[in-house]
Amino acid sequence: MTGTVIVNGRRYRIPAEPTVVFTVDGGDPDYFTGALERGLMPRLRRMLDEGGEFRRGASEMPSLTNPNNLSIVTGVSPAIHGIPGNYCRLENGELQLLNSPEFLRAPSIHAVLQQAGVLTLMVTTKDKLRLLLGNGGVPSVSVERAASTGLPEYGIDDLQALVGAPAPGIYDPEASHYAMRLALAVYRARPDLRLLYVSLTDRVQHAAAPGDPLADRFFAAFDTLLGEYLDEGFTVGITADHGMNAKHDHEGNPRVHYLGDVLAAAGVPFDEIVLPITDPYTRHHGALGSFAWIYLPAQARPLAHEVLAALPGIEEIWGREDSATLYENPVDRIGDLAVTASADTALGSHAHAHDLTGLHGHLRSHGGRHEQPVPIIVSRPPTGDHVERYRADTLRSRDLHALLLDDTAVTGPR
Ligand code: ZN
Ligand code: ZN
Repeated sequence: MTGTVIVNGRRYRIPAEPTVVFTVDGGDPDYFTGALERGLMPRLRRMLDEGGEFRRGASEMPSLTNPNNLSIVTGVSPAIHGIPGNYCRLENGELQLLNSPEFLRAPSIHAVLQQAGVLTLMVTTKDKLRLLLGNGGVPSVSVERAASTGLPEYGIDDLQALVGAPAPGIYDPEASHYAMRLALAVYRARPDLRLLYVSLTDRVQHAAAPGDPLADRFFAAFDTLLGEYLDEGFTVGITADHGMNAKHDHEGNPRVHYLGDVLAAAGVPFDEIVLPITDPYTRHHGALGSFAWIYLPAQARPLAHEVLAALPGIEEIWGREDSATLYENPVDRIGDLAVTASADTALGSHAHAHDLTGLHGHLRSHGGRHEQPVPIIVSRPPTGDHVERYRADTLRSRDLHALLLDDTAVTGPR
């Protein structure tokens, strides 16, 4: 099948060749540049030498998993797809994990292609993303549920048997690699698949900085699997949902402002602190990131602004309308104030509400501006309208599918 589809106002070429996008959760560009420099990613190196490109771009704000995975697969901002966090407060005041398709306001590129008869696949590591990414009839599986589910759409009933290995647990450093192996195994069973999306988990990135042995092992194993996809003839895109930074002092103590405690101590009335990093997997980060929403009465906002602006490491404080505009967020699902913190500072609600005993090491997290830079890597020379912005490092990760599936691209032998 050839031709194009239009998804959320953007045009995409129907891929003639198998195409895959890997979203490396927490995959700060420094992990890739460091691993390349130290010779740990020979297949990526060769891919770049043979016409691929590695540029930097930006993820969406807040720099969190759900908003960015959805932007990457829909090609549009959270204002349009409706998911500004992993967690939010709805207009009726209800606090809600944003894991369910009922909250989605835009279809994915994969859903539109699948409905046009092009076979697609979503593979996630954490099951929390699977329902969102599988919305619109996209066949989807997760590592977390691989032991208990099949993929009936493609005639597969035992995913573990297909991979040839039992699925690791969700906090296992190899869980992300299993997602890559799973997607490749499904492709080998169904080589008529044309667009795959594989979303990893940031368990390793939360625990290990670029150059740490755990991170090195992660990226070396990623590279080996990347090589298997390239050997199968895949066109490959690689990006991240966000970066990752250390949020602790030199002794390893978390550097955190608990905004509810701060406002209470200053006598500022407020209704609620909502931390959109909150998800079912808090062992990664203790629900501490560099972004917070505050719900509070209008008359309290000037004083809240003054108190918060005086804290070291607070970088941006915007009212609801401004933050909706600046961060391209849906105005009905964000707080009265949006607060961001510096690279080395995290934001919490109340000290007693965060359990940090389960962290895998010192606090490393994301959510703010400093985790917006992400790699945008393609396996072959990009073409079309996006190339100049790509080479100027001003593309968004949400542009990656448009870059790979540019409708002016000439397809042919690699
Ligand atoms: Zn993430
Ligand atoms: Zn994370």
